[in-house]
Amino acid sequence: MKTLTVLVPAYNEEESLHYLYDRIFSVLATMPTYNLELLFVNDGSKDNTLSIIKQLREQDKRVSYVNLSRNFGKETAMIAGLDYAKGDAVIILDADLQDPPELIPEMVQYWEEGYDDVYAKRRSRKGETWFKKATASLFYKTLKRMSQVPIQENTGDFRLLDRRCVEALKQLRETQRYTKGMFSWVGYKKKEILFDRDPRISGETKWNYGKLVDLAIEGVTSFTTSPLRISSLMGMGVSLFAFIYMVWIIFKTLAFGESVQGYPSLMSAILFIGGIQLIVLGIIGEYLGRVFNETKRRPLYFIDEYNEERETNVELPF
Ligand code: UDP
Ligand code: MG
Repeated sequence: MKTLTVLVPAYNEEESLHYLYDRIFSVLATMPTYNLELLFVNDGSKDNTLSIIKQLREQDKRVSYVNLSRNFGKETAMIAGLDYAKGDAVIILDADLQDPPELIPEMVQYWEEGYDDVYAKRRSRKGETWFKKATASLFYKTLKRMSQVPIQENTGDFRLLDRRCVEALKQLRETQRYTKGMFSWVGYKKKEILFDRDPRISGETKWNYGKLVDLAIEGVTSFTTSPLRISSLMGMGVSLFAFIYMVWIIFKTLAFGESVQGYPSLMSAILFIGGIQLIVLGIIGEYLGRVFNETKRRPLYFIDEYNEERETNVELPF
């Protein structure tokens, strides 16, 4: 019998967990031919999330959990979950029920047909402001143009992954993770299904614009070095312009002499070039920062506990 793992990263989700449990298992009840595992990764929640998960585990041994030592963020929580998932296929699902579990049977069906990565693409984004939609779409367009890896637009982390994909993702152990890009990067046979994303069932989104900007920069710097290339091209363009301008000034001075003038042009040139230099330094800094973080080679996360048995304390997966 094949095993399906439903992987749920959870951070302060106490209100939705019971609904989530009920909905997932009422869906999975329609698929009696599989072993099931519901794996929660508690990402350092500050509310009762962990005790609710433990309570569910008491009632139902199909529930298991990994408790991280602090809040590491969703990207890291997901890799922790993939490390501990036992399933032949892993379905990643948000704890707030924005990703309807009712899609799971369809995903599994495609998986049985031989697809390795069945991802759910949003037909609509209910409960999100037009500003968020617009910025998200702009970001995807830019990223797609800059990087060689095609990144699926309007697709979250809600997807079914075959064991092959899971093993591949487990080998990508970079500290600053942009999982959305990694799903594409590892390749394998992909299948898209469409769905309507619901507004979250309770609580608030953990994303704010600061974090989204971080994620966007993460997305760009982890998947393409083209900003560095653009900087070089920009530098060349500006120097070429400066050279032509210089020739013109020398010619003008020789031909017509020079009464002291040119404060505005001098000032704008200095400011313009100074600005460009700062931007380019910043871009180089972003990449250097990544190099700095990756070379430390720290483990991605620490486990506080795993189920009750603490089975895997012996073989921490890194
Ligand atoms: N999450 C997490 N760690 C965090 C933030 C979020 O594990 O630091 C989980 C959260 O519990 C939820 C999922 O990631 O299951 C998506 O979070 P959220 O709903 O806040 O994001 P959104 O749906 O708004 O993109
Ligand atoms: Mg959500």
